[in-house]
Amino acid sequence: MVNEITVKIKKKSAQSYIKGYPLLTKEALVTFPDMEEGVILRLVDESGRFLAKGYHGNQNKGIGWILTYDEKQALDQAFFATLFEEAFAKRQVFFNDDATTAFRIFNGEGDGLGGLTIDYYDGFLVLQWYSHGIYQWKSMILAAIKTAITTRGIYEKRRFDAKGQYLESDDFLASDTAPEPLIIKENGINYAVYLNDGAMTGIFLDQRDVRKTICDTYAAGRTVLNTFSYTGAFSVAAAFGGAAHTTNVDVANRSIPKTREQFTVNELDPAAHTIMAEDVFQYFKYANRKELAFDMVILDPPSFARTKKTTFSVAKDYGKLLEESIAITNPNGIIVASTNYAGYGMDKFKQVVQEAFRNQGREYRIVEQFTLPADFATRSSFKEGDYLKVLFLEVK
Ligand code: SAH
Repeated sequence: MVNEITVKIKKKSAQSYIKGYPLLTKEALVTFPDMEEGVILRLVDESGRFLAKGYHGNQNKGIGWILTYDEKQALDQAFFATLFEEAFAKRQVFFNDDATTAFRIFNGEGDGLGGLTIDYYDGFLVLQWYSHGIYQWKSMILAAIKTAITTRGIYEKRRFDAKGQYLESDDFLASDTAPEPLIIKENGINYAVYLNDGAMTGIFLDQRDVRKTICDTYAAGRTVLNTFSYTGAFSVAAAFGGAAHTTNVDVANRSIPKTREQFTVNELDPAAHTIMAEDVFQYFKYANRKELAFDMVILDPPSFARTKKTTFSVAKDYGKLLEESIAITNPNGIIVASTNYAGYGMDKFKQVVQEAFRNQGREYRIVEQFTLPADFATRSSFKEGDYLKVLFLEVK
């Protein structure tokens, strides 16, 4: 049995929980009692009136998530099974689409349970746990998942080491192991994924609509520079859309064989593309020296990265990155600017774009704009849950 602790919410914070704000913060509590992660929290206002129930788990700036506003609701296996059934039912269009076999089927607080996401990869599930607290509920949650969906196998990623990052481990949990690679489909394009190979699987499912738009609308005939290219997923989509050539730049050596593989599993010749392991900022210098220019530049950096040569953070350096990109984009070219940096909202991101173009003395027009796709459910009471910002910029 999980313990339950009653915590008092400050008067000035009570209203936001009544309105459905799902994240519990330390600042909202009158006092923060000493407790183990995973305990059930019963929230009351300063006069002792019941507000909501949730659990304690440390995740980024939060200390837990709200689960129900019904005081009598038991937080048992049946409660979680209902959450999963509802979430999976909402994704029926995805399950019915033979051209797309990988998508998100449970998106944390957007589906009513902060701290856990579940991705579907052609019958296999990848669970991501974001706190030690939610991980305490693992056996009950797994049992609830199994009542709601039949799977080929289950994997997990534990993202709660001391720094809140991925904990290196064997990620296989249950049923059968997945082939390596497992070939999934997205809008008819194949992608090789590895479910038991560290923190990342080989594809970021939240960029599905962006890949489709590159393929369907912007790639034809264009030369493409894909920076921070990882496994080259954007480039494969561009190649399918008729791109003239793609150049893939990622500092990690293993991105070279991984990118070749993504082309190969689609019967595209990787030798027809440029795939290099290089620091993006070094590459910009090289491109300037060689007077290279592209019809499309894709920018999708991590929020923070340190390489041997540079330290990059979106907060400090996105403008610089954009300016370098603008300088090597042909007239009427497209820059795809993407970030999942939590410190930027869309408005701030647009300001950074505007400033970079002003500094470079070039005109531009926003031709497409994306946030998270439909399967990455978010709720209006928690805007920061919609972390993805992508702008397609047409450079004059
Ligand atoms: N755009 C990719 C995902 C990028 S993940 C996609 O859609 O699939 C971030 C990648 O940035 C990692 O592969 C990492 O190796 C790379 N990276 C980090 N810092 C870098 C730098 N300074 N130069 C080049 N690549 C970098």
